[in-house]
This record gives sequence, C-alpha cells and structure tokens, in this order.
Amino acid sequence: MNLTLEQIQDFKGRYPKQIWSLFFSEMWERFCFYGMRGMLVFFMISQLKFGDEQANLQYGATQAFVYAFTFVGGLFADKILGFRKSLFWGGLLMITGSLILAANPHDFFFLGISFTVVGTGFFKPNISTMVGKLYRAGDSRTDAGFSLFYAGINLGALLGGYICIAIGKGEMFSKLIPETLRWNIAFGLAAVVMVISLVNFIFTQRRLGPIGLMPQQVSADGSVQVQPKWKVYGTYLLTLLFVPLIMVMVSVPQYTDYFMYTVGPLTLIYLFYEMSKVNASERKKLWAALVFIMFSIIFWGIYEQSGGSLSIFAAKNLNKDLLGLDPNGVNNSGGAFFIIFLAPIIGLLWIWLSKRRLEPNTLIKFGLGFIFLGAGYYVLFATRFFADLQGITSLNIFTIALLVITFGELCLSPIGLSIMTKLSTEKLQGMMMGLWFLASAYGQYVAGIIGAGMATAQEGSTNMDAMLTYTEGYRQLGIYAVIAGLVLIAISPLVKKLMQDVR
Ligand code: GLN
Repeated sequence: MNLTLEQIQDFKGRYPKQIWSLFFSEMWERFCFYGMRGMLVFFMISQLKFGDEQANLQYGATQAFVYAFTFVGGLFADKILGFRKSLFWGGLLMITGSLILAANPHDFFFLGISFTVVGTGFFKPNISTMVGKLYRAGDSRTDAGFSLFYAGINLGALLGGYICIAIGKGEMFSKLIPETLRWNIAFGLAAVVMVISLVNFIFTQRRLGPIGLMPQQVSADGSVQVQPKWKVYGTYLLTLLFVPLIMVMVSVPQYTDYFMYTVGPLTLIYLFYEMSKVNASERKKLWAALVFIMFSIIFWGIYEQSGGSLSIFAAKNLNKDLLGLDPNGVNNSGGAFFIIFLAPIIGLLWIWLSKRRLEPNTLIKFGLGFIFLGAGYYVLFATRFFADLQGITSLNIFTIALLVITFGELCLSPIGLSIMTKLSTEKLQGMMMGLWFLASAYGQYVAGIIGAGMATAQEGSTNMDAMLTYTEGYRQLGIYAVIAGLVLIAISPLVKKLMQDVR
C-alpha cells in the first residue's frame, strides 16, 4: 500500500485515517511518560528518602530537561534521522529507561530517568510534526486534527498518571502483586505500554507514504543522496552520551538554573542562523512562530501552577464537596478528564465554523486561550468567597476553575502544535516543534519560581492566611493572563502580516 502524499492529504471527511494510529501511539507514549512522571516525587520521598524540597527540585529539573530535549530530538530528525526513525529511537530509549527502573528503581533511578528524558525528546516533537504532515497547507481541518490528537495525549496522561502510581502505592492490584515488587511492576508497566506504542507505529508506517522518511540531500546535478550510515549511527551514539550528562545535570538542582540560562539563548542564536538561510517570506513566518512560542511561555508559566502551588492549595484548603473526591486527585487529573471530552468537540466546532467562514484565526484562538486562562484564575481567586473560618473552601468551585482553564488550554496548546507545522519551512519542522516544547520547559521553570514565591509568602501561617495569600496570587496571575491576551490581540495586525497566507 504505497500511498503518495497527495493521496493521504486528499482525504474525505473530517479526519485523515492515519491520525488514529498516531493518536494511539502518542496515547501510549503519554501513558508511559505521565505514568513515570506521576511516580517521581512520591518515589523519591517515600523510597529514596529525599526531603520534600530536594524531591521537588529534582522533579523540576527532570521536567526542564525532558522538554529541552525536544529541541535536540526535533533538530536531529530534520537533519539526519527523519521523523519516523527519531520517534522509533526515542521510543526504544523510553523502553530502556522504564526497564531499568523496573529492574532496580532504587539503585538506578537517575539512570532510568535519564534514558526516558532523552527518549521523550526524540519521540514527542516528531510524532506531533507527523500529524501536521497529514494535511495539505491551508486545509481548514488541521486544527480539528490536532485537537483530536490532543485528546489522545490526555487519555494516555490520565490513565498512566492514575494507574502507575496506584500500583506503586499498593492501591491497585495489591492482592496480585507482592509488596516488594509493586514499584518494579509500576515502572515495568510504563515499559509495556511503550512497546505497544511502537508496535502500533510499525503498523502505522505502512500507511504514511513518504511522511517522516529520512531527509535526502539533492546535489547540484539533481542526484539524490541518502544519509550516510555514519551520520545515523553517530546520532544514536551521541544520544547515548547524553544519558550520563543528564544524570549529572539532574542530580544537582543548581545546574538546571545554569542550563536554563544558557540553553534558551543558544537555541535562539541557532534559530537566527537557520533563519538567515531561508527566503524573506519564510523568515517572516518563522518570526511569527517565535511570537507564538514566546507567548506560550507566559501561558505555561501561569497554567503549570497545577503541579506546584495548586497541589499544595488543594491539599490544605479544599474540602471534598465534589462527590467526595480527593482534591489532589481532581487537581491532577481533572484537566485531562475534561480535555478527553471537550477536545474533539471543540475540534469539530472549528470545522463547523470554518464551513460558515466564521472560524477564528490562530491569533484569536491564542488570545481566547489567555482570556479563558485568566478567567479560570479569577475563579480560583473567587474560591475565597466560599471559604469557612478555617480557610477551607469548595472543591466544586475549584473544579469549575479547572474547566475554564481547560478551555484556555484547548484554544492554545493543540493550536500551537498546528501552527508550528504551518509556519515552519519544510526543513525546520522538527526543530520548530522542538522549540515549541522547549518553551513549555521555560513555562514550567517560571511556574516553579512563581509557585515557590507564593509558598514562601505563606510559610508558618494559618490555613486561612495561606488561603488568602494563594487566592490573591491567583488573582494576580489572572490579570497577567488577561493582559497577555490583550497584548496579543493588540499586536495581531503585525503578526498577521508576518504569517502572510497562514491563518
Ligand atoms: N499536556 C500536553 C502534553 O503532554 C502539553 C505539554 C506541553 O506543551 N507542555 O503534550
């Protein structure tokens, strides 16, 4: 079944068939990733006997490196491996990482984590880029496709995030699994689902036509040259050398700061170098992509309070008035739960609006993303009006805030993936997608700093004081989000010019 690109992109209906296969591969990969991520802090504290602060700092470092490596993964995909080989290599590294953790999580913890970090860098951006390749330039169904794909991401995140740690802690299958093996099985499950992801991808490949094959070089005389083998194997080898490097970097939290200070400027310099090699129209589009990337840092900086300050807020200041559910469980998985249902619906809404020529363009969607985010944080602020005298407030209202924030995420995150594929030149697709995720790394980093600021402000205070401090912090973040949205709308004529024919 050798399909051409035209045959793939000329699909009828709402979605290209291949998107389902990419959906499932990404779903299992996210299961593995969020499964592991969800266990990190708990495992470090309960099993490795780290202090809270150290565990949190090391968790933050892993997150920063994971998303920073997407840039490396995207770059090597563009230059040498192509998307398919990169994805496959990344998947194998993730399996290796999870197997190491399954075999001996106590002694080889950071080794396993480092494999997973590098592996994710190679897998994550490149599967997203392939989704974009299923669409012809200007196809108004693209954002809907990415929204569907985003539902897959969150389905995996929800299942993995819930099941792995539940097995590790003995809350699930505790009769079947002996106590001493719980963590091994939990990490092992991450490896198993990653195998499913890759097996699924092997079957998918047949229907991807030329999408994601290795880049070829065309010489001046028109002859096509395939990548020399040494470059491919050299890349694999280099990747393996990154593993010990990351182990060292993750082990000293301070290194993350140095890393974050240097890696951003360096990648920008590299991007400017690449931009100097393209034509003026392509360069303008890359500038526009950079504007979206920069705004996404602000978005994630505010949004990612969920892993930090909001989890403390949930633990200390929320009751269980929502079906008796645990507030931290709701904070961790509420967003993903909403997305699974809402993402496909919002995707279909974009298609429906586009048929009536009413679909908002990317700038407006991003602007809406910020406004929903801001509104959501205002709802978080409003939880203070439902608090009792002990500073305990309503989980119901908190959940409404999550829902509003989720609308914001759906206007920005899948749309961001989509616009990266539309604004990048053919040869820079992987790198730009990597840069999009690198921005999330910065967002998480900023989020950590904001959250730590709020936590210090309320140290040693009563529950009531803490509640007031946190909600005031959320009000301020809400204002920043709305301001960012307004700035984006204000500069939209300029960005529109840069985007040219892209919407
Ligand atoms: N939650 C999404 C994912 O896992 C978005 C991540 C991000 O860009 N920070 O893919």
